[in-house]
Amino acid sequence: MGALAKDGEASRVVVVGAGAGGMMAAGRAAEAGAAVLLLEKTDGPGKKILVSGKSRCNLTNSRELGDFLSMFGPNGRFLHGVFHRYFREDLLAFLGRYGVRTKIERGGRIFPVSDDAADVVNAFRRHLEEQGVELLTGVRATGIAVRDGRVQGVETEQGLFPARAVILATGGVTWPATGSTGDGYRMAAAIGHSVTKLRPALVPLVVEEIGVAKSMQGVSLRNVRLTAFRSRAADVDPVWTPFREIGRGLQAVRRGSPVIESRMGEMLFTHFGIGGPITLLISLAVVDALAGGPVSVSIDLKPALSPEELRARLQRDFDGSGKRIFRNHLAGLLPHKMIDPFVEMTGIPPDHPGHQIGAAQRERVLALLKSLRFNIRGPLPISSAIVTAGGVALGEIDPRNMASRIIEGLFFCGEVMDLDADTGGYNLQAAFSTGYVAGEAAAEMVRSEGTHPADEKA
Ligand SMILES: Cc1cc2nc3c(=O)[nH]c(=O)nc-3n(C[C@H](O)[C@H](O)[C@H](O)COP(=O)(O)OP(=O)(O)OC[C@H]3O[C@@H](n4cnc5c(N)ncnc54)[C@H](O)[C@@H]3O)c2cc1C
Repeated sequence: MGALAKDGEASRVVVVGAGAGGMMAAGRAAEAGAAVLLLEKTDGPGKKILVSGKSRCNLTNSRELGDFLSMFGPNGRFLHGVFHRYFREDLLAFLGRYGVRTKIERGGRIFPVSDDAADVVNAFRRHLEEQGVELLTGVRATGIAVRDGRVQGVETEQGLFPARAVILATGGVTWPATGSTGDGYRMAAAIGHSVTKLRPALVPLVVEEIGVAKSMQGVSLRNVRLTAFRSRAADVDPVWTPFREIGRGLQAVRRGSPVIESRMGEMLFTHFGIGGPITLLISLAVVDALAGGPVSVSIDLKPALSPEELRARLQRDFDGSGKRIFRNHLAGLLPHKMIDPFVEMTGIPPDHPGHQIGAAQRERVLALLKSLRFNIRGPLPISSAIVTAGGVALGEIDPRNMASRIIEGLFFCGEVMDLDADTGGYNLQAAFSTGYVAGEAAAEMVRSEGTHPADEKA
C-alpha cells in the first residue's frame, strides 16, 4: 500500500490491535459514525480473551465502583470518569444483545453462563461486522506516522494506512503467543510518549529453596495465609505477621513496615517455587520490593489457630497418642504429599513415637506450621505473567477521552497504558471501558473536523 490515501482513508479511524480494548474501540467508533479500520497482527481477533479466565473469560466483577477502582492501586483514579461513562452494566447489556448471558461467581467474578470465552469473541465479531468495521488480520503495525505533532496514519509491514485518528490498543507483553509482544510501547515511545517501567504482575514466584518446593510440587494449599516480608527468611520475626490481610483493595501497608502484602486463600507449590491465586496477588508488590533488597515469604498453614491454640493441640495429640509415630500425627494437619518433606524439615525422625517428642521438637513443628519460609529469587519471566504492570504514562493521556496529550489524533486503550489490577475481571473491564471511551472520542474528533482535504473529490 502506498502513501497516497484512497477515498475516505485520510478521514478514518485506524485501531491497532483487535484485543478486548481494540475491538470495543473499533465497534464504538463505527457506531458513532466513523469509517474504521481495525488492524490485527495475528490471524484472528481476541486471542487473549480466548485464554482468559482459563478459557471461561472472567469479564468483569460485581463489586461496587469504589472497591473496583481500588483493585488498580493508585492509578485506579485515572479510571474514575471512564467507568462513569461505561461500566459493567453497559458491558453486560452489550453482550446480552448478542446472546451472551452471564453469571456471578465467588468473589463477584462475572463469567458467560456458557463458560466459554469464544462466545465473547464471537459477540464482538458480530458487532464489528454489523457496524461495518473493516478488520485486517495478519497486519503488524510498526509505527505511528506523525507530521507536525499530528497523526497521519499507521505504518505497517505492508505499508502506510492513512488515518485522521489512531487508537493504540496493542496490549502488554505477557503471553506473547496471543499477539501482545510490547509493540505498542515501542511505537508510543518512538513518537515521544514516556513508558513507565514494565514489570510482571500476577506471576508465579521462584524461590531459592527450589529443592524444598519441588519436593512438594503439585501440593495445593487452601485457607492458608501468605505474607511477604522485606527481609531474608531467617530474619523474619513472627510478631511481624499482620492480623489482617494487606494488599490492593484491602488494608494498606504501613509506611516503614517490613510487611509487603499478606493474603488468605489458595496457593500451590511448583517445581520452581510457588504459584496459585494468592501468590499471583502478592507478586507485583514482591517484584517491586525485590528492587530494593531481599524478600521472603512465610506461609501460615494454620491461620485459624493462634500459636497458643496450635501448641495446645500438638501437645494433646502427641502426648495422648500412645505409640503413634510422628509421621502419622501429621496426617490430620497437612496434605498427604506434603508430609514427608515437612517431616524432613523438622529434623525429627518420622518413626519417632509421638509421646516422646520433647518441647523443643514440638516448638519446631509449631514454628514450621505457622511460618514455613522461603527466600524469593524473583518472578517467572514477564511473558508468563497474566498482566503487564507499567506502560504508557497516564499523565500523558487525557482521562476524559483517552487522547494523547502529546500527539493530536492519537488515542490509547487497554493494557498498553500504565494500568493493571488484581485478578477478578478488573483488567478486562478496564480494557473494554477505555476502548469504548477512546472509540467514541476518536469518532467525535474525526466527525467534528469534517472531511480531510485528501479525501475531497476533485
Ligand atoms: C492467561 C491470561 C488470563 C487472563 N484472564 C483474565 C480474566 O479472566 N479476566 C480479566 O479481567 N483479565 C484477564 N487477563 C488479562 C486480560 O486478558 C488483559 O488485561 C486484556 O486482554 C488486555 O486487553 P487489551 O485489548 O489491552 O490487549 P490484548 O487483549 O492483549 O490485545 C492486544 C491485541 O493487539 C494485537 N497487536 C499487538 N501488537 C500489534 C501490532 N504491532 N500490530 C497489530 N496488532 C498488534 C495483539 O495481537 C492483540 O490481539 C488474563 C490474561 C492472561 C494472559
